[in-house]
Amino acid sequence: MSTTVTTAVVCLVCDSALDIESGSEKGEIVECGTCGQEHELTNASASGYEVSLAPEVEEDWGE
Ligand SMILES: [Zn+2]
Repeated sequence: MSTTVTTAVVCLVCDSALDIESGSEKGEIVECGTCGQEHELTNASASGYEVSLAPEVEEDWGE
């Protein structure tokens, strides 16, 4: 009997397990520790997490 909710999500690029902190909320950005790809949490519930590739945000080099 498991008391831990499995929230394993893998990177959409390299299939490495993403380390998502418990308590994370929808919309948070999760970065893959292996390839650095950013993922956006599109769903966060007691049953697990879903992620999609985060849109690439252009670096704002201006003011
Ligand atoms: Zn990755």
